[in-house]
Amino acid sequence: MYWEKDLETLDRKELERRQLEQINWTIRQARNSSFYSGLKINRIDSLEAIQDLPLTTKEDLRNQFPYGFLAVDRERVIRLHSSSGTTGKPTVVFHTREDIDRWQNLIARSMYAVGVRKNDVFQNIMGYGLFTGGIGFHYGAELLGVMTIPIGPGNSKRQIWFLKHLRTSVVHILPSYALRLYTFFDELNIDPKKDLNLKIALIGAEPHSNEIRKKIEELYGIKAYNSYGLSEMCGPGVAFECTQQAGLHVWEDHFYPEIIDPDSMQVLPEGEEGELVLTTLSREAMPIIRYRTRDLTSLIPGNCPCGRTHRRISRIKGRNDDMLIINGVNIFPIQIERTVMAIPEIGNNYLIEIRKKDYMDKLLLKVEVNEQVFQGTLSELEKLQRKIIVELREELDLTPEVKLVESASLPVSDGKAKRVYDFR
Ligand code: AMP
Ligand code: ZN
Repeated sequence: MYWEKDLETLDRKELERRQLEQINWTIRQARNSSFYSGLKINRIDSLEAIQDLPLTTKEDLRNQFPYGFLAVDRERVIRLHSSSGTTGKPTVVFHTREDIDRWQNLIARSMYAVGVRKNDVFQNIMGYGLFTGGIGFHYGAELLGVMTIPIGPGNSKRQIWFLKHLRTSVVHILPSYALRLYTFFDELNIDPKKDLNLKIALIGAEPHSNEIRKKIEELYGIKAYNSYGLSEMCGPGVAFECTQQAGLHVWEDHFYPEIIDPDSMQVLPEGEEGELVLTTLSREAMPIIRYRTRDLTSLIPGNCPCGRTHRRISRIKGRNDDMLIINGVNIFPIQIERTVMAIPEIGNNYLIEIRKKDYMDKLLLKVEVNEQVFQGTLSELEKLQRKIIVELREELDLTPEVKLVESASLPVSDGKAKRVYDFR
């Protein structure tokens, strides 16, 4: 059940002792880079004292493009990845061979934790390339020793053909694409529950509600586990759900997590929601100290029944910058998703549009509905529409406009889903 029992179940005291040692190593290593060369603090004497170190932001990474964070000789770098940001200068991340080895190992550890074994067939439906999702899992899966199909996303019919004929048992897939892919089975006359050998989906790389996870589990008759990561830390393999499905273990022997209040930047106690800040503990090529991820979550108090001692974070609620302010009300898109996806007649995709009209913000929700419902009578559709409005009003304190659309009719991208269009 454990890939590395000693490390995954390490006594907390010992784990924290090692973390402190590794933070001090990281400070020394980081000083080799031009960005951290002027760091005023040489070492800290307790984990709490990490708060004395400055925070690092995405903006810092951008400003230092390309080599400002590099802490080893360029010749030792064997790989570069880049974050998925679409605007402005890209940010790049460097890895030595040892960095890559450690990363692979964390992916293997994560996959093993949810039951992936050598005899599985693994179809990696995440993008390969600069994005870390595809390549990251690819090497981790190979280290675990599982047969890996590097298919990448898209081409849904070929995807299904491989799923069926190679008896794929594990996939790594964007949650939005898992729902999209489902809409192709009917046409091919394949029943994902009966005709496939699929057991596990590793889903992540984009925010998704528990309702979306459940939907994927039910549609395919499988278990879906949440995988969290970001290129700045390595990519996937930072935090992963165990089979308890009650939060994601941050692999604390390689990353030190804190939760801060994004306004005051003060560290918050366990259980309180705020922005996740991460420090790399073992990265050579590009150590990063107290990186503001912008992702909102909390550290879950208490022990996990799985026996792992590494602390858990709750499902990511969204990014700081995702928050919408609609007529003064703060809303996260995931709140809308949670409400809507819990309604059984709803299909697999939705989209949010916001416009200004007569000085007021108007939120329009376009949502796909099941085939049968869409074929139903007008009054049934109107009833459903009213139901969505009422439930959203209760949840959000705002009355949206709702438009029901046909299954698989909303636009989807090959990469992370873009579901909010703010035209204000
Ligand atoms: P990138 O560095 O381009 O791979 O993007 C990393 C970002 O994707 C993170 O900072 C999160 O905002 C988002 N992300 C990754 N995994 C998850 C997940 N499991 N749940 C929610 N958001 C995620
Ligand atoms: Zn656990």
